[in-house]
Amino acid sequence: MSVYDKAVKLLIDGCVVAIPTETVYGLAANAFNPAAIERIFAAKGRPRDNPLIVHVADLEMARGLGLEIPELAERLAENFWTAGSPLQGPLTMVFKRKTARALRAAPPQRGIIPDEVSCGLDTVAVRVPNHPAMLEIIRQCGFPLAAPSANVSGSPSPTKAEHVYADLSGKIPLIIDGGDCDCGLESTVVMFDENKIKILRPGAVTAEMLSEFGEVEVEDGGSIHSPGTRYKHYAPRAEVIAVEGDAEGFGEFVITNPEAKTLFAKLREFDELGAEQIFIQLPEPAGIGLALYNRIIRAAEFKIVKAEV
Ligand code: AMP
Ligand code: MG
Repeated sequence: MSVYDKAVKLLIDGCVVAIPTETVYGLAANAFNPAAIERIFAAKGRPRDNPLIVHVADLEMARGLGLEIPELAERLAENFWTAGSPLQGPLTMVFKRKTARALRAAPPQRGIIPDEVSCGLDTVAVRVPNHPAMLEIIRQCGFPLAAPSANVSGSPSPTKAEHVYADLSGKIPLIIDGGDCDCGLESTVVMFDENKIKILRPGAVTAEMLSEFGEVEVEDGGSIHSPGTRYKHYAPRAEVIAVEGDAEGFGEFVITNPEAKTLFAKLREFDELGAEQIFIQLPEPAGIGLALYNRIIRAAEFKIVKAEV
């Protein structure tokens, strides 16, 4: 039996499986099955008010979920969710659920996302991952997979199978090793307000890239619409201190250095070295720097010191 067959069987049976994606490793379960969703929250120790992202194979599968997908989102999907598109990238879109009346008027739905996934919100977050393992497993399952990062809640996100093993071994039945994640940062999360695109969590799909399609607003610093952005997050055991100051040179380095994707792996390495404090220079909060800034200040529990000479 191949590892994919094993994963699919476990997922059909309502179990959780750690699967690589291009962003970070995900802890996946059948998004239609409330008991399976409960296993995600239990394994991670995830706060019950932090909703999960639903992963689908393509836009067509997203259309089958009983959600209101505005035209603007369809255009974003064609660009950011489509393999081979020059803009293809990690983008999560938050959609309103259709009303019961709208659902009755447009049957048959292939499935409804239960409240357990969206923690009672009237919206559901959806994305198309860009990783052959994750896509193959979704296609073979035929149902969408809810998948937050495959770590203990609050610790740095897992960008290698070893990170998942360190956090969750003994708690989950299967980890698929896909090597290092390409992106190493979670997806950009957006929602729509008329023709406005609101960024709830910055990521590798930047405000600049989205602004080709409409007006963009960044709702950061504990987004009211995105419960998960309020918490201390991504934190190693060591105390993290975010340093703001003359970011010249350093900020430029973080933004342009391809190793920027190793932020979470580095935080875990410092823990292994026994570090008690980690000082991190904050990058300029622009472009991909905004996504890094967002993760670093959460790892630092929003403690920022100003370095002035
Ligand atoms: P994680 O899967 O741990 O990377 O986090 C998922 C992110 O998506 C968190 O920041 C959540 O707050 C956000 N999210 C998930 N579902 C929704 C939703 N329905 N509305 C707004 N934000 C959401
Ligand atoms: Mg996470």
